[in-house]
Amino acid sequence: MDTDAVRARLLRRREELHRRASDASADLRHESDPLSADFAEQVTQRESDEVLDAISESARGELRQIQAALRRLDEGCYTTCSVCGEPIEEGRLAAVPYTDRCRQCAETERGGPAHRR
Ligand SMILES: [Zn+2]
Repeated sequence: MDTDAVRARLLRRREELHRRASDASADLRHESDPLSADFAEQVTQRESDEVLDAISESARGELRQIQAALRRLDEGCYTTCSVCGEPIEEGRLAAVPYTDRCRQCAETERGGPAHRR
């Protein structure tokens, strides 16, 4: 496991999310697009505000996970599942570099591989 490469990748991703979050909040403040006096347009703008809220909410969640992954890198337990203590599959870490659990535990958390509906 090349932890330097992983760290670089996580830091890049964190930068990207920070940039996206600040773009989104600039939009929310309507710096470049003052809220229109026209009521119908205001409704449309509010709806897109909600979308931006959702984007920044998920970006915030991912940022928290990236922070935690960087901490686990420092502590040397990056590749250890935080639930069962088994090693996390390398392929899984490559696909989801900020995960803290192995495939098995991640599937259990989502309600099992059977996806009951
Ligand atoms: Zn596990």
